[in-house]
Amino acid sequence: MISENIKEIRQEIEAACSRAGRSKEDITLIAVSKTKPVSMILEAHNEGIADFGENKVQELVDKYHELPKTIRWHMIGHLQRNKVKSIVDKVVMIHSVDSIRLAEQIDLEAGKINRVMDVLLEVNISGEESKYGFTADEALEAFEEIGRMPWICVKGLMTVAPFVENPEEVRIYFKKLHQLYIDMKCKNIDNVSMNALSMGMTGDYTVAIEEGATMIRVGSGIFGIRERK
Ligand SMILES: *Cc1c(COP(=O)(O)O)cnc(C)c1O
Repeated sequence: MISENIKEIRQEIEAACSRAGRSKEDITLIAVSKTKPVSMILEAHNEGIADFGENKVQELVDKYHELPKTIRWHMIGHLQRNKVKSIVDKVVMIHSVDSIRLAEQIDLEAGKINRVMDVLLEVNISGEESKYGFTADEALEAFEEIGRMPWICVKGLMTVAPFVENPEEVRIYFKKLHQLYIDMKCKNIDNVSMNALSMGMTGDYTVAIEEGATMIRVGSGIFGIRERK
């Protein structure tokens, strides 16, 4: 089932890319494996998926130790400052930087291990109350401040769109995030490092690709629906 799902998603990615005049090599499919067992992750890894996303530190750390080191882990969930230390040596990217204080902590812990951490700034582009992330205005300011931190490299932006039935309804938010990303790239002297736009999940990743996503985070579309704990 997992292999068929992945095959289908890869076809959808390719179709969305061709509609948008983009190359499929420019899209990284991140398999969001939260709540799913290591056996399923291995199955996806055997299908050539290298990038996996988790939203909880303990679960990520446990899976990191159990699974092959060929896996590239992405932290995609809200991160508490006291837990930064446990993941700075394990993840390739933190997508969910939503405050200056969190960035400062990442800078501190990454510095201790002599590693520059790639991060994305999470933007609450729809302005939903329940969501983490900077507002668009805050993100521009935060970008300047975080961009100066020596052990952090801001690679781009991430958002979680509102949950809707029809993915066309969130196109506007993907467009907005893309525009903000362009605005930031213009501001940045060292703009070579800005190359990532993490947006799109199972229900809306094709729309996200049409609007410029370079990373899509797909969970249930690959592993099946998650059971509520
Ligand atoms: C769970 C999650 C996803 C994947 O959601 P699906 O709808 O299952 O594809 C993507 N991004 C974040 C931040 C998540 O927490």
